[in-house]
Amino acid sequence: MDPLNLTGLTGLSILFLVLVFLPMEKVFPAKSRQKFFRPSWFLDLCFFLGQYFIWGAAILWALSYFNFFLGNIIPQNFRTAVASQSWWLQAIEVILLSDFIIYWAHRLQHKWSFLWRFHKVHHTAEHLDWLAAHREHPLDTIYTVGLINLPAFILGFPLETLAGFIAFRGIWAIYIHSNVRLPIGPLKWFIGAPELHHWHHDIERDRGNYANISPLMDLIFGTYTCPDHEPEKFGIKEEFPKNYVGQMIHPLLPEKTSKKIMKKNLLGRLKLKKETENTVEPL
Ligand SMILES: [Zn+2]
Ligand SMILES: [Zn+2]
Repeated sequence: MDPLNLTGLTGLSILFLVLVFLPMEKVFPAKSRQKFFRPSWFLDLCFFLGQYFIWGAAILWALSYFNFFLGNIIPQNFRTAVASQSWWLQAIEVILLSDFIIYWAHRLQHKWSFLWRFHKVHHTAEHLDWLAAHREHPLDTIYTVGLINLPAFILGFPLETLAGFIAFRGIWAIYIHSNVRLPIGPLKWFIGAPELHHWHHDIERDRGNYANISPLMDLIFGTYTCPDHEPEKFGIKEEFPKNYVGQMIHPLLPEKTSKKIMKKNLLGRLKLKKETENTVEPL
C-alpha cells in the first residue's frame, strides 16, 4: 500500500475506533475517573502507529508464509475431507480449536519466561482502554495470530476467507481492553467481556482469564475469575522501559543484560529521588 493510502487508512481507523469506543467508555465506564488522555496515552499511540505503518505488513507476510509452508506439508485428501463437511460444522470446529489452542498458548506466555519477555510488553499497560489494546510486541503478535489461525490454516481455509474472522477477532480484542463495563447479565458466561480481560491485566501475573472470545476454556480449566469490581492496579511488578524503543528492544536482549540495565535504571531513579528530597527546603 502506498504511504498516502496507508496514512488515510490509519486516520480512518483512529476515527472509527474513537467514534465507536469513546461513547461506550463515557456511558458505561469501568473506571469512571479515567480521562481520555490518561498517562502513557502517547506511548500507546506509538504502538498503534507502529502496527499500522511498520509491523502490520511484516506480520501479514509472516502469516502468509506460514500458511504457504503448512499448505505444503498437510495431505490434500485430509483437506478435501474437511471441505466436504457443511460450512457451519467447519466454522464451529475452527472456532473451538482456535480457542483451545490460544488458551493454552496464552497460559504458556505467562508461565514460560522466554515467551513472557515478549508478552509482558502488552501487560505493562497501567491504564486500559481501546488504545492500550494495541500495546503489543510484534513478535508476540506473530505468535498469537499464527496460533489463533493455525486450525484454519491446517484445514485449508484461504486467507481471504479468514479476513472477516480475523477482523472480528481484532475488534473484539480492542473491545475487551476498552474502559467499559457493560451489564450483559448471564451472557457473560458465553461471551468474553472487558471485565474478564481487565482481571487478566491485574498486577498479579497469574490472575487467569486467558481465553479470547469465549470464557469457556477458562471455565473448563479452572482459571475463570470475575470479581464484581475492577482490579486495583494493572501492569507488571517487574522493572521495564517506559518508552516505545525500549519496549521494542528490551525483550530481544539476553536476560542478564536486560536485568542489569533495569537495575541500573532503578538505582538511578532512586538516587535522583533522594537528591530531589534533599534539595527541598524545610518549611
Ligand atoms: Zn496475557
Ligand atoms: Zn490484553
